[in-house]
Order: sequence, then structure tokens, then C-alpha cells
Amino acid sequence: MIAASYRSPKTVVRGSGTHGRGLYARKAIRQGEIVSIRGGHILSRAQLKGRRRPPGYLGYPIADGFVLGPLTKRETESVMMFLNHSCAPNVGIQGQILFVAMRNIRAGEELTIDYAMFGGDPKPMRCQCKAAACPGSSRRATGAARTCSASIAVTSRATSSGR
Ligand SMILES: [Zn+2]
Repeated sequence: MIAASYRSPKTVVRGSGTHGRGLYARKAIRQGEIVSIRGGHILSRAQLKGRRRPPGYLGYPIADGFVLGPLTKRETESVMMFLNHSCAPNVGIQGQILFVAMRNIRAGEELTIDYAMFGGDPKPMRCQCKAAACPGSSRRATGAARTCSASIAVTSRATSSGR
């Protein structure tokens, strides 16, 4: 069995207007329902060292020095959750690997999460989430690209205090 993340059967992965592929509600999802559970192999920093990482590798930090990650190109695809970032997300994290609906979600809506809520890539990104509260989109109107404040300086959840 290959390592994979769980996605609710009420969800579907399809093209997103802004970020390539995204996760969408195929059916209505109630607040509190699990939409995804992060999967992967538990890999230590030592194991990651010297291993040739599959393309598009993305380890999900679960503790200091440990990530949940894929070992093959196929697993890189199967552990992806396709949750895009939004500054006004409808999905949140419960514990470390459970992703739940923060409100009722209508069929057809894209499921999004605030990337500041979980660890990973600390690089700033240009946000295109179009949320009213998004600093990225408000600056885009003037043509000056801005990174989304929510995604800047994200540190590993494992090393942040208690969240
Ligand atoms: Zn945004």
C-alpha cells in the first residue's frame, strides 16, 4: 500500500482558477466534518539526509526533525491534499494532521486553508486568494505585488509553542 492522504468522498480534486489544482466540495460539507487527513511516511531528518527526494517533494512537519513525506514520485501525488491557501479559509487543522471544515461548505466551493496554520515552506508567496482581507489582492489592484502576510515567516508547527 502506498502512502497517501485521506480525502473525504465528498471532495473532488479539479482545476482551480488560481492555483492549478484545488480541492472542491462535491457535496455539502458540515462544519466540523473531516475533509482530509495528512498521510505519508514518518521520516526523520537523518533519513531525509542523503536520500534523493522525489520531484515536488513536500514533507509535512510533525515534530522537531520529523516530517510526514512521500518516498516516490507516485506518493508525492498521493500525499498531496490539494488544499490551496486563502486568507479567508473554510478549513482548519484539528490536532496535527486532521483537516476539518470550519463552517458549513456548499457543494462546488473550493476548500482552502490558511497556510500560516501549518509548517512547511517559510518562503513568502504572492497570494491570489481574492479574500477581502487579503493583503496580496488589495495590493494587486495597484500593480505592486505583495506577499500575503499570513504566509510570511511560517515556522514549523512542531517548533512553535503549543499551537
Ligand atoms: Zn490572501
